[in-house]
Amino acid sequence: MVRLLVVEDEVRLAASLRTGLEAEGFAVDVAPDGAEGLWFAQEHAYDAILLDIMLPVMDGYDVCRTLRAQGVWTPILMLTAKDGDADQVDALDSGADDYVIKPFSFQVLLARLRSVLRRGVVERPANLEVGDLVLDPARRQATRGAEVLPLTARELSLLEFLMRRKGDVVTKQQIMENVWDYGFEGDPNIIEVYIARLRRKIDRPFGREDIETLRGSGYRLRVPEA
Ligand code: CA
Repeated sequence: MVRLLVVEDEVRLAASLRTGLEAEGFAVDVAPDGAEGLWFAQEHAYDAILLDIMLPVMDGYDVCRTLRAQGVWTPILMLTAKDGDADQVDALDSGADDYVIKPFSFQVLLARLRSVLRRGVVERPANLEVGDLVLDPARRQATRGAEVLPLTARELSLLEFLMRRKGDVVTKQQIMENVWDYGFEGDPNIIEVYIARLRRKIDRPFGREDIETLRGSGYRLRVPEA
């Protein structure tokens, strides 16, 4: 039995999440505020936590940070209210594994939840390094040499994806599936736009061309020769 903790103060949303998730076969506990959510998460073993951000008593960021500081690495899926990049960066900064933006469809939530469950418990991941490019997945920050790169959350996710597959060709389809939302049905040209932005931030200012375009197949992050 997969056990979930839902920390959500909106009564109707909490109830519908419980109903929907139980119908999918999950065992669900619901906590109505941050302090109670923290207590539940400390006292019981859950397979994943769905954590709202705006909560009475203690907000979701603090719950998340506290758990991580105590070495509790239960996968956390944050329910963010806004679609500003800042919220999502804060969610990931505080130690969440992923987020969904309210209002979300139950199917999207379920897909994200299954994805964090599949990944299971991930202790703070090690830095990714490709040449002098370093990405710290826990702090959501990337640097080239001594310079911190001014990347948005999405750009950082794209860079992370390329770094995890350094030296390999990745297709637009793979990028779409891994960096964009599940079921994203927008214009795939968005990826070219983001690749161009990334180049303007991580390559061009440094006189580099590490992100290669392979016509008709995709992109590759070049691994510099040692
Ligand atoms: Ca709330």
